[in-house]
Amino acid sequence: MRILAVGAHPDDLELLCAGTLVKYRKQGHTVIMAHMCKGDKGHFTIPPEELSKIRAEEAKSSAELIGAEIISGGFPDLELLINEETRRVAVDIIRRAKPDLIITHYPEDYMIDHVNTSKLIIDASFIATLTHFKTDFPAHNVIPPIFFMDTLAGINFLPTEYVDITEEMEMKEKMLLCHQSQYVWLRDHDHIDYVDFMKSLSKFRGIQCGVTYAEGFRQYQVWGRIVPKRLLP
Ligand SMILES: [Zn+2]
Repeated sequence: MRILAVGAHPDDLELLCAGTLVKYRKQGHTVIMAHMCKGDKGHFTIPPEELSKIRAEEAKSSAELIGAEIISGGFPDLELLINEETRRVAVDIIRRAKPDLIITHYPEDYMIDHVNTSKLIIDASFIATLTHFKTDFPAHNVIPPIFFMDTLAGINFLPTEYVDITEEMEMKEKMLLCHQSQYVWLRDHDHIDYVDFMKSLSKFRGIQCGVTYAEGFRQYQVWGRIVPKRLLP
């Protein structure tokens, strides 16, 4: 399968679903990691243009650890509105990635870039199959199943499916640590140690399903997106 995971910012996938991506890669699937925004406002002092470059490199290093491809939507943080332009970019991310399955944010996550990423990817994954919606890439031929990854700190999110990531936790942590610019920022701005934050949520989801570490998901259940078999690894 071709798995497309789309986060709002360059480190969201590492926080919320990287263990599952590692597991998919181990099983021989293709993984494409995308982020809609550049992460250009996630620092107190480094200016946006410089920070964008740093964060692009961090995302690349993380993806390289598991041999994943990477795509950036290229939008400045907090400027990811839902409009014609952002929709076309989202459609082209899907047309480039040609996914059999998509992982993205839950529609009720904690901030607007996450919420709008979710909405854009849901809509774009349908539009991407329409041959009369013209963009730079040919139409995709699958309306892919979508799985929502956990919310930040798991708030207002009750998983319906779990992936055991106990064996993948070491790599998940390594991937997250590629995002070094965020370590100090998240500590001082959000008062968290992001490794501890990520591990605590993975441990909590693990407790819920009887393993050491897990990631939780909810499937987007609408007509045309459901198949009669388990798709998560
Ligand atoms: Zn984010």
